[in-house]
Amino acid sequence: MRKESKAFQAEAKELLDLMINSIYTNKDIFLRELISNGSDAIDKLKFKSLTNSHILGEDKDFRIDLTIDKDKREITIKDNGIGMTYEEVEENIGTIAKSGSKAFKKSLDNTGNSEIDIIGQFGVGFYSGFMVAGKIEFTTKSYDSEKGVKWESIGDGSYQMEEIDLDKRGTSITLTIKSGEEYDKYLEEWKARDIIKKYSDYIRYPIYFKDEIINSSKPIWKKDKKELKSEEYNEFYKSNFHDWTDPLMNFHLKVQGSVEYTALLYVPKKAPVDFYTKDYKKGLQLYTKNIFIMDRCDELIPEYFSFLKGLVDCDTLSLNISREILQQNKELTDISKSLEKKIIGEFEKLLKEDRPKYIEFWEEFGRNIKFGIQDMFGLNKDKLQNLLLFKTSLDDNYYTLQEYVDRMGDRTDILYAVGEDLASVKSLPKIEALKEKNIEILYLIDKIDEFSLKTMRDYCGKNFKSINDSDFKLDDSKEKEEEIKKLSEDNKDILNKVKDTLGDKVAEVKLSSDIGKGAVASLLAKGEISLEMERILTSMPGNQNVKAEKIFALNPEHPLFERLKADVNKESFKDLIDVLYTESLLLEGFQVENPAEFIKKLNGLLK
Ligand code: ADP
Repeated sequence: MRKESKAFQAEAKELLDLMINSIYTNKDIFLRELISNGSDAIDKLKFKSLTNSHILGEDKDFRIDLTIDKDKREITIKDNGIGMTYEEVEENIGTIAKSGSKAFKKSLDNTGNSEIDIIGQFGVGFYSGFMVAGKIEFTTKSYDSEKGVKWESIGDGSYQMEEIDLDKRGTSITLTIKSGEEYDKYLEEWKARDIIKKYSDYIRYPIYFKDEIINSSKPIWKKDKKELKSEEYNEFYKSNFHDWTDPLMNFHLKVQGSVEYTALLYVPKKAPVDFYTKDYKKGLQLYTKNIFIMDRCDELIPEYFSFLKGLVDCDTLSLNISREILQQNKELTDISKSLEKKIIGEFEKLLKEDRPKYIEFWEEFGRNIKFGIQDMFGLNKDKLQNLLLFKTSLDDNYYTLQEYVDRMGDRTDILYAVGEDLASVKSLPKIEALKEKNIEILYLIDKIDEFSLKTMRDYCGKNFKSINDSDFKLDDSKEKEEEIKKLSEDNKDILNKVKDTLGDKVAEVKLSSDIGKGAVASLLAKGEISLEMERILTSMPGNQNVKAEKIFALNPEHPLFERLKADVNKESFKDLIDVLYTESLLLEGFQVENPAEFIKKLNGLLK
């Protein structure tokens, strides 16, 4: 029979050390983690037995057993679940699953993270035992194996495992509790009962302690909402969805009608570390008649709600459903459609009833909603547009599009300004002029904002318009139009000269009274691609060399325009135009191509 001594994988060792030296004060949760592993193991076996009932044999009464031996300082947690083969032990214990390990490494590299953040970001499950135990050993036998396995480690970086004879399927883990007052309590009966009541009460299989079942085992989502305290919801979340922090909120939905199901959904407070990586898998747990079917059922929620954690329990799903068949299951599609509507409804309600909390959600996950709007050429925009929030020039609060529209009177366009951040967009010259006229502007400070608005095209019959759009007018009176027309005619030669100087960097040079009093020159864009879109698209990998059609607008009322006129035949004219053009690029957040050259020209002019 095989017998080996092995080293923990590097990442697992790091995690292990973290556990052993843990300053994490809530060590109680080790029991919750081990019990939930046992419950998962029974879930897995039960699922397998749906299509293959004989694998259960005589051992059909699923249970978890807890025993405490005070003299030997031992706690044992035993389950009659699926068990592990020799290979599975090697794969699962002593290593961290691929996605987990990457996320873990990443969070370690990120020195800003505290230990608790790191622990909290993903399932540390089994390893948490080392917070309280100097030694862990377990025996396990897979439903699918003749032999059993014995594994042990004192958490020193190595572990020993060997094949042994075992007659019963399942896993039994024994922790030898560290000495010290801090740890003694874990050997007390009251403490075990306490922890289980608090963290594991909902576990769907009986937990036996001293011949007595000590959990209520009614799934939390089947309980009446009114009976449940937020603490219970939160504990359930933390133990089931690998988060150490309380969720931001939950939605407990009991849906009746043409489709019937119960859903318990959570919005995490923070996105998990791997959320923006390919490793992140969205989805909800799926149950039918209390039987666990699968962990991340992707079909249940759309991409833009991928941050949601939780579960769906539907009693009418057919039991012999296999994961492959699930994908085309009509009932599942109906549930996901209904769920999508319900979730949107819940967020709309939150937006109305608890704005601060909604903002907390928005700041963490609002981007997902914006992506949802752009996705599939705007197919979902009508459903999602009322969830959008923007800062505006009105004050420092967030507003919905509806709130903006309600204030805009009979103006036809929803005006927006784009910038790298709030400070730079607020200081754009045109903003000041618009504020003086009491015209409110949406601030788009997230790179994807403008793409979302372009996908939407309009809102409530009002078009979106950038203040950098070539046909945007600060003053749209007839007189002003005439005045500019005349001035343009008078200064035709100058404008031509400017255009010659700039060459094909710009499509057009014109005079404008719409760029703000303080500004001498400004860049505008014509057509579908805005300046900001050019800036963002060209900074992306696989740069597509997308160019906005640029218009260089000069303010004839600015004193520097007089200088321009005076210098038109001087040598410095070209430098003056180059400097003004570069300034207008800077103002739109572009980078100067050749800063040294720019500074030289600027200094030359200042001389
Ligand atoms: P997690 O539970 O988050 O996956 P763990 O470190 O707790 O992380 O466990 C790693 C893996 O070991 C589990 O995914 C499971 O496959 C296996 N495992 C742990 N405990 C048990 C058990 N009691 N019975 C069967 N398999 C188990």
